[in-house]
Amino acid sequence: MITICGTGLAGLRTAVELRSLGCDEAIRAIGREGVAPYDRPPLSKNLFGDYDRPLSADGLGDLADVCDEIITAEVEGLDGTSVIANSIRYESDITVLALGADARSTIDGALTLRTRDDAERLRRIDGPVTIVGGGWIGCELASSFAAAGHDVTLVEIATHILPALGEAALPVADALRELGVLITHSIPDSPGTVIEATGAVPNTLGLDLTTDGWGRTTLPRVFAVGDCASMTIGPAGGHWNTALHQATRVAQAIMTDPQDEPIPLTPDVFSTIARRELLLIGHPVGMPITLPDGSRSLWLKDDRLVGGFTIDRPADGVALRRNIGARLTAEAAADPRPLKKILREMP
Ligand SMILES: Cc1cc2nc3c(=O)[nH]c(=O)nc-3n(C[C@H](O)[C@H](O)[C@H](O)COP(=O)(O)OP(=O)(O)OC[C@H]3O[C@@H](n4cnc5c(N)ncnc54)[C@H](O)[C@@H]3O)c2cc1C
Repeated sequence: MITICGTGLAGLRTAVELRSLGCDEAIRAIGREGVAPYDRPPLSKNLFGDYDRPLSADGLGDLADVCDEIITAEVEGLDGTSVIANSIRYESDITVLALGADARSTIDGALTLRTRDDAERLRRIDGPVTIVGGGWIGCELASSFAAAGHDVTLVEIATHILPALGEAALPVADALRELGVLITHSIPDSPGTVIEATGAVPNTLGLDLTTDGWGRTTLPRVFAVGDCASMTIGPAGGHWNTALHQATRVAQAIMTDPQDEPIPLTPDVFSTIARRELLLIGHPVGMPITLPDGSRSLWLKDDRLVGGFTIDRPADGVALRRNIGARLTAEAAADPRPLKKILREMP
């Protein structure tokens, strides 16, 4: 028996990948939401539109097709590989923790966004909103509320919104301002409804969910995947593509027990803010080389491409995904032509 705790993207994909690798063990999934796995990114980007998307509708698999048993319960802890949920013990030979994260909540009375129920609450807000936290979700929410006609204040204590991007994020701030969003460093006196978007806290059950590159924790036959896991190789959890790729690896590890370390995963984040399609691939470390129109910023280290951020340049996004680590000079990085072309011409 394999027990998967958590029925979000990582839990679903682990079960689907196990089946596609020929796993014929019984699979049990335990989740607390009691609904079929759904997609979280639309909750902030399409809050006032098509926000409720089951993952099965996007071809990512149907939990009921790949699991022998689906249980709605709160997982409380592990005893070896057995799982305790709602005080009941579920015997298990292999356990996969795919418990995701909860929204960080530090401001009394503020709403947060992580689940479909949270989104339903946010949709009912009337009047002005103040969103605290100018990271991806905060900016996406600011964009959705402003487009829906709300007065929006976005509070970010760092110098820029999307602080990890530094000045590369300035065009995103401009686009939000064009939508009418007021960007400030402190909560206004009359904030309206306050929404906190200051990050997420991984659900670890109090365990150390540091894993190797295959999702193996230090506990025998216990794996961790997605936002709850902290892979020592590749990015920590927190992003959709990471959860997707980690699930593939965990399934491979369960089926074949590989002994090598896999190739590190490259961080890969997508977002839609103020109708712009954004992609951040790799590591934005140091000063970026940004095109004059702000549509592409590249980060280099020792004439190697280590990260890139694009705004409405999907082809450059594809080139970035394939070429992190490739040779690129600062002069070439400042060339506004498509990245694929520039990289092809690099000696
Ligand atoms: C609003 C929003 C927008 C996002 N937008 C983007 C984006 O644009 N790009 C991007 O790359 N990423 C985005 N993300 C992140 C992305 O959705 C996550 O990285 C992804 O959902 C991770 O999947 P997961 O399965 O690890 O976690 P989750 O999807 O959170 O699933 C975990 C599941 O486990 C359940 N669970 C937790 N604890 C227990 C317990 N004790 N017992 C039982 N069940 C439990 C949870 O209820 C949940 O159903 C966004 C996230 C949010 C919330």
